[in-house]
Amino acid sequence: MNASSLLANTDRPEGISDPTDHGHALPEGEVTLDRLLETVARYNPNPEGLDLIRKAYNMALESHEGQKRQSGDSYIKHPLNVALILAEMRVDTNCLVTALLHDTLEDTSLSPEVIESTFGKKVLHLIDGVTKIGKFQFKKSQAEKQAENFRKMLLSMSEDIRVLLVKLADRLHNMRTIEWLDASKQKIIAQETLDIYAPLANRLGIGWIKSELEDLSFSVLDPETYADLRSRVARKRKERTNYIEQIIHSVSQSLVENAIPGRVEGRYKHIYSIYRKMTSQEIPFDEIYDLMGIRVITDTKLHCYGVLGLLHGIYKPMAGRIKDFIAVPKSNMYQSLHTTVIAPEGVLVEFQIRTEEMHRVAEEGVAAHWNYKENSDGTPAFPDLKVVNWLRQLVEWQKELSDNQEFMNSVKLNLFPDEVYVFTPAGDVREMIKGSTAIDFAYGIHTEVGNRTVGARVNGRWVPIKTVLESGDVVEIITNPSQTPSKDWLRFVATPKARARIRHWIKEEEMRQSAEIGLRSLEAEAQKFHRRWSEFTKPPFLGTVLSFSDLSDPTLEDIYSRIGFGRLSASSVLRKLLPGQGEEPVSVITPSPMQERVPIVVRGGGKDLLIGLAGCCSPVPGEEIVGYVTRGRGIIVHTADCPNLVHLSLEQDRIVPAVWDSSKDAIFDVHLRVSMEDKPGMLAAVSAVISERGANITHAEVKPSKHRMGVLDFTITVENLGHLQEIMTRVQHVKGVVRVQRIKTSSEPFHTFNA
Ligand code: MN
Repeated sequence: MNASSLLANTDRPEGISDPTDHGHALPEGEVTLDRLLETVARYNPNPEGLDLIRKAYNMALESHEGQKRQSGDSYIKHPLNVALILAEMRVDTNCLVTALLHDTLEDTSLSPEVIESTFGKKVLHLIDGVTKIGKFQFKKSQAEKQAENFRKMLLSMSEDIRVLLVKLADRLHNMRTIEWLDASKQKIIAQETLDIYAPLANRLGIGWIKSELEDLSFSVLDPETYADLRSRVARKRKERTNYIEQIIHSVSQSLVENAIPGRVEGRYKHIYSIYRKMTSQEIPFDEIYDLMGIRVITDTKLHCYGVLGLLHGIYKPMAGRIKDFIAVPKSNMYQSLHTTVIAPEGVLVEFQIRTEEMHRVAEEGVAAHWNYKENSDGTPAFPDLKVVNWLRQLVEWQKELSDNQEFMNSVKLNLFPDEVYVFTPAGDVREMIKGSTAIDFAYGIHTEVGNRTVGARVNGRWVPIKTVLESGDVVEIITNPSQTPSKDWLRFVATPKARARIRHWIKEEEMRQSAEIGLRSLEAEAQKFHRRWSEFTKPPFLGTVLSFSDLSDPTLEDIYSRIGFGRLSASSVLRKLLPGQGEEPVSVITPSPMQERVPIVVRGGGKDLLIGLAGCCSPVPGEEIVGYVTRGRGIIVHTADCPNLVHLSLEQDRIVPAVWDSSKDAIFDVHLRVSMEDKPGMLAAVSAVISERGANITHAEVKPSKHRMGVLDFTITVENLGHLQEIMTRVQHVKGVVRVQRIKTSSEPFHTFNA
């Protein structure tokens, strides 16, 4: 235990930056490869890792050959400094390799293939992530509105948090050397740093990077105020040095007497946080009592509370100024006890009390938790639940992470599991729910844009409109006035808005189509009586016709669509209009023999709004089919042998003949059940055979096996019966497969419109 002096600067980052010397991690002297290697070797002496770092350095050196920084330094100094900053945070080898190569993809001719073959896919992926983040320009004009979205976007884009660490270190070094840029550029970069990167560092809990970025930005944006505050802090500090050292001495003394291990140090508020306190709370400089404070670092949580009691025994605590961030950590996992006491001469002094572990977290944030521990595959090992808790805190306003265990097994972080952030071509950030497609984006702009969407360009490339968007995508929607929404779109849209708008359009279209069908039925029925339907659409008949509606203000359209939907029969209308004529009235539609009736033509492919394919038996072209006229759901087409027809045949009059229209290209879903021996690799083998024959697998499910027999259920898309039969035969021949069945379930018989 020792009481360190106020001027002490350890060789690792200090938490709260020292205003007179921005120096915690500022390297003094020449930054060289040897120095980097030495720093790494202190925490991760693994020779293979050091060798990779050497390799990465040489590759970067060669790639940046001839390039200079604005300062006149050779370019390699920049990645080397970035790597050193990270080495002081004790990050893993891949992260350091990424730091050394972080500007090569963007600024040199080094190819991704070379990086991948030397350092592996993971490193390439990390460098790619850093490059991608660097590409986005934060638009100052929309600062207020978009800064938070932008930060969230960066977080969500960085599925591996190391991408953000490298980016922060990169920004830190660029800010440290910003004096070499021209003044206007300096301001833009400093503002972006203050708006985006410092808060990002704060959210990741890396207090020292946050403080340094803030002060560096502030000194660029408002140099006069910065210089003024800086000199006032320095003066105050000089005045108080002896005073603070005395307090440190007596507290240290007291720790010894009470056998509590620990160290006591002075700490200083950084300039920007003083400025913020002065402006936001309108406190004059002289009244900021926590300009300087004292920190006690001990070993256990229990001792933290012990120290608190001890301090309160020496100095009188200020009422209401005791904060227990140990019991209730801050959202970025910061933990400490804070108390403000009245020291000799009535001076207020703030104490922070914490354990070494808490101190490390306060300094290094998320980086404190994995550092050099690595799995054999080069991914950082998350040692304990703390990281998960950490990230839970980071997403505190978001939903809980769904599966802890799964999360632990992966380094992939998705801090905003339900959101993606994409750009309009004009550069505006739009927040969308995860899984949103180009069509969701189109409806997000305007319903008319959605309804008329024919295509989309994402990052300049044409993509299908069902393409799922990722954070950072730039999305452009192509419309055509003759385009209309498709029922198919409902299968892949994710946003409630798009879904509602598409449904609305379909409903209106169905009304229109059913009214047309209804009108045609009435015309045909009227002909049987040698009349024309138009005679009945005016008085004295009109009233009778309209009485078939249950609406208060009925129109002919309503009546037509009721008939089209099958809720009303055309013949019952005519019989009411012409009582006593023709055959005797019957209450149900009399079915004529199937063969004599005109079959409905089934096209599939999603173009028939009122003709759907049954989900139970999933008919495909080539099979015998019949239509079932539902109440209000149009006509559902079943295979002639569908088990559900047994129930449906109770209402024979609703069954109508149907034929396929083979002239249209379309694909159809069918369900297959494959029974086989329960051994590894079966799913892959069966899937491969299905895919080889040109069918898509839209769903696959492994059923719990019994008696060492495995069961796989698939939903696949096929063109017709021949195609399906070919696939079933192939699957049957896969080694280990016992039986392949088409599933025609009797559950949920006729609710699915999936054509
Ligand atoms: Mn860089």
